Amino acid sequence: MKIRRLSQEVEVGKVKIGAGAAIVVQGMTKTATEDIAATVGQVRELTQAGAQIVRIALPTIRAARALCQIKQEVEVPLVADIHFNYRIALEAIEQGVDKVRINPGNMGERGLLSVANRAKDKGIPLRIGVNSGSLEKSLPGNNLGERRASGIKDKSHLQIMADTMVQSALRTTALLEEEGFRDIVISLKAADVLTTILAYETISDKIPYPLHLGVTATGPCPQGIIKSAIGIGALLAQGIGDTIRVSLIGNPLEEIKLAYGILESLDLFKEKPVLIACPTCGRCEVDLESIVEEIQLAIEKIRTPLMIAIMGCEVNGPGEAKQADIGIACTRKGGVLFKKGRIVGKVAEKDIVKVLLEEIEKLSRESEN
Ligand code: SF4
Repeated sequence: MKIRRLSQEVEVGKVKIGAGAAIVVQGMTKTATEDIAATVGQVRELTQAGAQIVRIALPTIRAARALCQIKQEVEVPLVADIHFNYRIALEAIEQGVDKVRINPGNMGERGLLSVANRAKDKGIPLRIGVNSGSLEKSLPGNNLGERRASGIKDKSHLQIMADTMVQSALRTTALLEEEGFRDIVISLKAADVLTTILAYETISDKIPYPLHLGVTATGPCPQGIIKSAIGIGALLAQGIGDTIRVSLIGNPLEEIKLAYGILESLDLFKEKPVLIACPTCGRCEVDLESIVEEIQLAIEKIRTPLMIAIMGCEVNGPGEAKQADIGIACTRKGGVLFKKGRIVGKVAEKDIVKVLLEEIEKLSRESEN
């Protein structure tokens, strides 16, 4: 893992983004915002699942006017997602939103400046959210759609698209800076993973602002999961990125789960147990899959950073189990139990789940004391 890129700090409500703060996980509602009860319900569900900031689409002034009431009923900072009409952003700011995401591809300069000035008065940040599907028509390089549609997608194409996205962000940033506005977060999302990575890599040493990572329009799962994990993961592994939002079709709670999965896989979130399990093969003589499923379900609510290894045989089993806080290496006759690197007993297959859970709970209690 490379050293984390240092960015300036931006505060969204009480949540800090950038300047070395832990990577912030964001979610987005999918309800009609005007349906206040449904939106409040989904914001709460997202928060419970671990979203630290929640974005809400505001396609109309009416939706923006619903914000004030939604805000009163939830604790998490809310971000207004605005396209086209800067007046909706102004209304959202009036209603007390904690941050505004604007798209420079579909909002004119006059509108952007009005929003920035109002945001400055209220002390809230803006995200310049560049999206490969809605770039400014005036930007050179914004004619790549036709080439892609005709199947041309070489490296230079990806770089041109990435450069065009970067240009959009830099142009908007310069415009806001001229107005004295620097409370900025930037995102550069493309539907293509390589373009997304190139765009963030290119901008990362050109501006001091925090970067919000995401791959957009990822398509159906598992493709959406794979694209998000590779795009966001590759950037975080390079030390790039301060906040992330996974975009998937379907239940928005899955986005939060995957976001934490990405952070856990890169050791960027360590507040839950990590489960290591082998894929099993012809050597495995126990029902490892069921054991893993039961343990996974049982530890879902535990908030202790433990490493648990459940391995199918003596090939890699003892090695992985030894390196874990608690581990089991299965054999034909059951499992060999390891705790903090030492063998502490043998367990019959029928008792593996029970014994592992007892040990996990014990370790969890010990670490709390
Ligand atoms: Fe197969 Fe053993 Fe490796 Fe599991 S640990 S995948 S059972 S060789």
